[in-house]
Amino acid sequence: MSEIIKKPRGTVDYFYEDASVLISIKNKLLSLAERYGFSFCTVPTFEESRLFHRSVGESSDIVRKETFDLVNKGDRSYTLRPEFTASINRAVIENKFFSSPSLPLKFSYFDKAFRYERPQTGRYREFHQFGVEIIDEKIDLSSQVETLLLAIDACKMILGDIEVKAKINFLGSVTSRDNYKKALYSFFADKIQYMCEDCKRRLETNPLRILDCKVDEDRKFIQDAPKITDYLTEEDREEFEQIKKLLLKLNVSFQVDDNLVRGLDYYTGFVFELYSDEKLGALAGGGKYSSLMKELGGPEFEGIGFSIGIERLILSLIGKGSLDYKKSLDYFVIDLRKNGDGLIIAKKLRDKGYKVSLPSFSRSMKGAIKMADRENAKNVIIVDSDMTYKLKDMSTREQKDLTFEEILGL
Ligand code: AMP
Repeated sequence: MSEIIKKPRGTVDYFYEDASVLISIKNKLLSLAERYGFSFCTVPTFEESRLFHRSVGESSDIVRKETFDLVNKGDRSYTLRPEFTASINRAVIENKFFSSPSLPLKFSYFDKAFRYERPQTGRYREFHQFGVEIIDEKIDLSSQVETLLLAIDACKMILGDIEVKAKINFLGSVTSRDNYKKALYSFFADKIQYMCEDCKRRLETNPLRILDCKVDEDRKFIQDAPKITDYLTEEDREEFEQIKKLLLKLNVSFQVDDNLVRGLDYYTGFVFELYSDEKLGALAGGGKYSSLMKELGGPEFEGIGFSIGIERLILSLIGKGSLDYKKSLDYFVIDLRKNGDGLIIAKKLRDKGYKVSLPSFSRSMKGAIKMADRENAKNVIIVDSDMTYKLKDMSTREQKDLTFEEILGL
């Protein structure tokens, strides 16, 4: 016997109810984004590797060790997208959307991202993200607050009563961040020998990322580290205060977390993460970026965006929320004539918008009725061999005779 081929590690199959949950979440989130004025977009699954190296940052873990780099077939190297911000900004520059008279640009997406990570619960190598990007000459206060509002709204829309916590921080301008990085470097220099291998590397590449370390033994060093707030300019501090004030005015509860630095290098200014079950990691992450467009060869525009991990949303729902996405049918057509008359009726009902399915000809009447129950069919139409038609209401089990014209009138 040949060996059974299994799916690659860290990937997920979606079938039946899982697939219905996925498609239903997708539709709900995209229509919510539309209500906030975003237009849906899709970008290529793979891009030139240098796009992610330049934007996400050489020092970020995503680029250092977590990208799926494709086998080089020509003179270019390509990478499966680990996230969407870089691609959307690339598309805005390439298509010159930035010269549009209606700024800010507002795009939403729902698609797969790929990261070569060690798979565990809530962490996959191929996963779905829903998110948005707002791009403008200057990202004002209202765009920043609205982005966080939409991220919270999106999680709540799917999670219902399950609590969603928002953690926020302010990373400051490039200059403030550079000063802060220097302070962190000096602080950790004599402690780094006792810290994990990743932190040793981060000290040289991007000391900010040390703050994000999840290793328990490292936390005791991190808690006494200098705080970013001490390195913000007056202007940065004022902006953060105004964001907090506006969030309070809008009744959004949040917690300021000094150690929130985000995994990608391009963030400056306001950043946030959303959590439901902390064990799963962040449900969503986002923030403002100021120099990404310029680094990618575009104008000096700014952007803000977030991304929600759909698999983590689904995991948060399991056992708590209602995952009631059962397939159902309006009509199940059993064709005992086996001559295609059933197909004609099914086609006419589908043209009217009904959900209709048929069993195979080989199924017995009893087997077909059992199948109609399993498929949650509301009604069964029997196309009988004596040239009559019967309609069976599957909830009351009542059956009545119908003429062909009456069936067409359903
Ligand atoms: P990030 O771009 O890293 O901030 O990711 C945004 C969100 O995507 C996270 O908050 C997670 O919900 C989700 N996410 C990131 N990486 C993974 C992964 N490897 N598997 C599943 N979800 C992920």
